[in-house]
Amino acid sequence: MSRSFDVVVIGAGPAGYVGAIRAAQHGLSVACIDEWQNRDGKYAFGGTCLNAGCIPSKALLESSELYHKAQHDFKKHGIKTGGVEMDIAAMQKRRAGIVRQLTGGIGGLFKANKVEGLIGHGKLLAGKKVEFTPVDGEVEIIEAKNVILASGSAPVELGIAPFDGEHIIDSWDALELGAVPARLGVVGAGVIGLELGSVWARLGSEVTILEALDDFLFMADRDVAKVAGQEFRKQGLDIKLGTKVIKAKAGKSGVTVDYEDADGKQSVEFDKLIVAVGRRPVTDGLLADDAGVQLDERGFIVVDDECRTQVSGVYAVGDCVRGPMLAHKGSEEGVMAADLIAGEIAEVNYDVIPSVLYTNPEIAWAGQTEEQVKASGRPYKTGSFPFMASGRAKAMEQTAGMVKIISSQDDDEVLGVHIVGPMAGELIAEAVLALEFAASTEDLQRTIHAHPSLAEAMHEASLAVDRKALNFPNK
Ligand SMILES: Cc1cc2nc3c(=O)[nH]c(=O)nc-3n(C[C@H](O)[C@H](O)[C@H](O)COP(=O)(O)OP(=O)(O)OC[C@H]3O[C@@H](n4cnc5c(N)ncnc54)[C@H](O)[C@@H]3O)c2cc1C
Repeated sequence: MSRSFDVVVIGAGPAGYVGAIRAAQHGLSVACIDEWQNRDGKYAFGGTCLNAGCIPSKALLESSELYHKAQHDFKKHGIKTGGVEMDIAAMQKRRAGIVRQLTGGIGGLFKANKVEGLIGHGKLLAGKKVEFTPVDGEVEIIEAKNVILASGSAPVELGIAPFDGEHIIDSWDALELGAVPARLGVVGAGVIGLELGSVWARLGSEVTILEALDDFLFMADRDVAKVAGQEFRKQGLDIKLGTKVIKAKAGKSGVTVDYEDADGKQSVEFDKLIVAVGRRPVTDGLLADDAGVQLDERGFIVVDDECRTQVSGVYAVGDCVRGPMLAHKGSEEGVMAADLIAGEIAEVNYDVIPSVLYTNPEIAWAGQTEEQVKASGRPYKTGSFPFMASGRAKAMEQTAGMVKIISSQDDDEVLGVHIVGPMAGELIAEAVLALEFAASTEDLQRTIHAHPSLAEAMHEASLAVDRKALNFPNK
């Protein structure tokens, strides 16, 4: 007799495993299928985020930042260290250890919540049946009352620069390098390209980032992008905008990259080239021809605002559907799908999804950019406060950057918050809450912020919106 579940989730990344746990918390019987295999041959839950994305990249960003600080900033604090040495093997071991702990933790969470974790391939058949091919054992047809597809995404490969895993590499390879490349090229100045470029630059690589667009960080507020660009260049990242890669060819000693910019055709040599030009939805072998689920022209699973596919009872969440490819967006969609399956009212507020770049300085924003508000025609006011005037930032020796708030001129509603500076990824949480609750600038102004804290910059920026900043001259 075939097994049957109230909910079968295909994919145990942050969208799928969170959805599975929430569904089980509703008292539903749940199975979650995943086939992720790490480089050591071990299968692991957690998807891209925990194994090859958010978590390992942050582990290395932290290590590389500490190394950089020990070399360059400790002396400002009056700390003498003598020679600072890097042990890349130990750094990578720590990264792998964190990944192992967190991915192993999902198995524990599945047990605690009575989710059946199944290791192998899942394929949706017609009639909400799921074909499960375990990594060892017989193929099984599982009956499901509801299915959540959470198959995630994979790096886009360029035909002109195909991955060889050695010289032309993707973001996962770039997180597992065992030595610091002397000359590192990165194609794409997006979030992943900048984070990986930062890691290896801090560890000693000479990093060149080749970006086809003329605008740096086109998705960010222009004031933030300007400060960030200046800071990254000060740190030695060579960011070449308006630079179109024509071809990359791997040889014995490295990679030759031909590109074209305003000065015409040129060529450059690297030891390694990371191609980080975006990610594509993964749906290979996921859907039987008669499963009834549709893909759009870019390969994303077509869903409505509630993540329902065209097949009743089949949902799709996370990177395999439209919207920003972010772990927290996927998790919230997983929660929403599970709540809807359980008969609850649920929604995701797609207007308030925070974006964070874990560079130094960090960059974070939520809500609309000034350019977007301007284009909407809504009258607005802005205020900003530089970290240069923050006592806490000074104590930390991290004074680059600012908080900028954009609010409605008419009713004072906060419309967007943009931060470049220390701990921006943490500070943005206050802005997300403000936007979620449709707070006014005055609400932020009247909220008491601890002193001395970086969060005071948020408070002062809200005061600056009405030219009432207390610790910086109002313009
Ligand atoms: C280097 C890097 C850094 C990143 N940093 C951040 C960050 O700081 N913050 C952030 O929010 N996002 C970050 N991201 C993006 C984030 O990793 C993704 O948005 C997130 O992992 C998407 O979650 P998901 O569950 O939709 O898919 P995934 O995490 O990709 O998981 C999908 C899972 O489905 C499994 N699967 C697919 N098809 C099948 C099948 N047919 N059968 C069985 N299993 C299947 C896969 O094995 C995989 O485990 C980063 C990404 C990268 C590459």
